[in-house]
Amino acid sequence: MADFDVDLFVIGAGSGGVRAARVAAEHGARVMIAEEDRVGGTCVIRGCVPKKLFVYASRFSHEFEDAAGFGWKLKGARFDWPTLVANKDKEIARLEAAYRATLKKHRVEIVDRRAVIENPHTVRLIKSGARVRAATILVATGARPVRPEFPGAAEAITSEEAFHLRKFPRRIVIQGGGYVAVEFACLFAGLGAHVILVHRGDEILRGFDDDVRRHLRVEMRERGLHVVLGHTIAAIEKKGRALRARLSDGSSHDSDQVMFAIGRRPNTANLRLETAGVAIDAHGAIAVDETSRSSVPSIYAIGDVTNRLALTPVAIREGHAFADSVFGDRPWNVDHANVPTAVFSEPEIGVVGLTEAAARAKGRDIDIYRTVFRPLKATLSGRATSILMKLVVEKASNRVLGVHIVGKAAAEMIQLAAVAVKMGARKSDFDATVALHPTLSEELVTMRNPV
Ligand code: NDP
Repeated sequence: MADFDVDLFVIGAGSGGVRAARVAAEHGARVMIAEEDRVGGTCVIRGCVPKKLFVYASRFSHEFEDAAGFGWKLKGARFDWPTLVANKDKEIARLEAAYRATLKKHRVEIVDRRAVIENPHTVRLIKSGARVRAATILVATGARPVRPEFPGAAEAITSEEAFHLRKFPRRIVIQGGGYVAVEFACLFAGLGAHVILVHRGDEILRGFDDDVRRHLRVEMRERGLHVVLGHTIAAIEKKGRALRARLSDGSSHDSDQVMFAIGRRPNTANLRLETAGVAIDAHGAIAVDETSRSSVPSIYAIGDVTNRLALTPVAIREGHAFADSVFGDRPWNVDHANVPTAVFSEPEIGVVGLTEAAARAKGRDIDIYRTVFRPLKATLSGRATSILMKLVVEKASNRVLGVHIVGKAAAEMIQLAAVAVKMGARKSDFDATVALHPTLSEELVTMRNPV
């Protein structure tokens, strides 16, 4: 590899790119990584991590409300948005520094520049114009929010700007019905905003189990959120300091901010992938095989830019598998089946495996176990809330194909349930496990009869 400047050039220092760079370097590769923005990528800088910090902030209001029934008298609690944003920024800066330190410790050279591909073995750095010859190139450039085009759309924000608003939006209209829309609707509502969620479909969270979708929407309504289904925002106008969102049903809603959360598009534009002959699929993502290799043998791609499963831990695994396989002589591929996922709504969702509809569509003969119950805490808090748990079980094998939870700590529960599902646990294994009382999760092992 003597005529190459580096063994691996990684474009994009998000979670996946950083993992790939670090592991390749541990295997002895000479690695360079380019990042035009901040090291850490979507998850650390403008995604999962700051979002979860905001979610924590938003949940105090529910705790304060619930506390009264337990004898607490609280007064004078006041939320200060600038404090939250500043403290979040400090933590994100600390994390970015930690990411940079890890790369440096492993002798990965960081280039704070945009990089574009010139040919299957050459990357050009924008501004300096320097060319780097690499034996292998890894594209890990992630994705970015889609912005629609209609009158006044430019007045709206996306999740990226939501993390840096100078003023807390007391009224916000959010368009979308996916992860980002639902999470931000719930967290803004928890922080005290009046929230209207506008979704074009007939139910939020397409792709999730139908019981889960319905249950969450009802819980959101109980917490004061307004969900408008079957409509979109048609236009946005400035009205003094407010923004007026006109919906497709003709109604108008004034708010301080309008936010789009209508999906994310892979960052493939302006990388000059076409000059190297890298094939792009119908969704604008880099087409890769199960080893993350693109149509050009020396160019690989991982994470959201490949639009497989847009989740941080998946991108990290794809990066790790790539580095072990190409530089560590330890080939392995990522198994994309039974990946647990959570929506950090209020209450939150945790799921793993097949939905009831997906299992039926695959022609599986299934039993459904479902429980909806009032949590013990709600007896004293007085909160009108219930928890949904659902198991999708294959009749013939007794295997648990899917676990679906809506309720407090669903994300924490599903991580562990996913171990059982991944191991191929049967419903009888769940039944044989003694309940831990009193918990919410005990209901997972006490569902006796199919519905
Ligand atoms: P999603 O793909 O999850 O949702 C997009 C939503 O926007 C859908 O409800 C979709 O409706 C709607 N939509 C799409 N196009 C339009 C349009 N032109 N007009 C109106 N509505 C539209 O995207 P997100 O941005 O919410 O999230 C992107 C991905 O990021 C997720 O799929 C997930 O993989 C990841 N993510 C994970 C999180 C987590 O793990 N907790 C948190 C946040 C993101 P329809 O259903 O009708 O298509």
